[in-house]
Amino acid sequence: MLKISSKHPRYKSLLLREKMAKAYQEGILADTALIAHGRGEAFDYILGEKTSPSAIEAIRCGVSAMLLAENPVISVNGNTAVLSAEHLVELSRLIPAPIEINLFYRTPQRVEKMEELLKKSGATKVLGRKNDDYLPIPGLEGPRSRAHPDGVHQADVVLVPLEDGDRAQALVSLGKKVITIDLNPLSRTAQTSSITIVDNVVRAIPLMIQEVAKLKKYSKKQLTRIVNKFDNSENISKSLNSISHHFKQDE
Ligand code: ATP
Repeated sequence: MLKISSKHPRYKSLLLREKMAKAYQEGILADTALIAHGRGEAFDYILGEKTSPSAIEAIRCGVSAMLLAENPVISVNGNTAVLSAEHLVELSRLIPAPIEINLFYRTPQRVEKMEELLKKSGATKVLGRKNDDYLPIPGLEGPRSRAHPDGVHQADVVLVPLEDGDRAQALVSLGKKVITIDLNPLSRTAQTSSITIVDNVVRAIPLMIQEVAKLKKYSKKQLTRIVNKFDNSENISKSLNSISHHFKQDE
């Protein structure tokens, strides 16, 4: 493994890159997962590798929606599990909301490794395991066209960090509130989800955990007010403004 100096300007980013490369070598991630991570790195770079005030606003709304939900579920792909397993488990415990494994390139071996990683990080119950039943999601074809009957399929609110555009659209069409975390404010996922947190999962999920502690003291009425006040398109525009502001500062 490469020794990265903590003085390197991309230090944190390079540590995450190494983590991803290792997970690929161990067979948890598919090769395309690394490409998706690279797209994320590029957007994080132009966001200044920090959480914007608009992302904080979206985090607050997302957590409020999860606390108000009757059946909230956290849908997890390989990248998110590798980067944030412990925080995902903590969030799942606090809301509470079950974790469902949803892999684009689903193989029994990869599912097993994901389950192992989540369990090692403290998860007690994981949906979407090797022999679990999956139900079709109307309007979708291909590897991610199914969802667990006790998880995403019956959920009213789904947190799906790093979703793909078609699936996000299909879940929204089923009447679910879809909360996504995506560094690209222009992706189809970001544009079609109900609540888009434009931030890196490694920063956003710990912030969601902090927010749960604060918002758990709020009444349903107060949480509903937060959700109703939120305008996703407006929030995405603010994220785009953060990007151009970051560039202007560097001029
Ligand atoms: P869409 O189908 O929504 O248009 P896409 O095809 O552009 O998405 P993919 O390549 O499927 O995107 O997935 C990568 C997405 O995940 C990108 O939008 C990228 O910015 C985002 N991403 C990658 N790593 C992270 C991360 N650590 N945190 C948040 N978002 C990330």
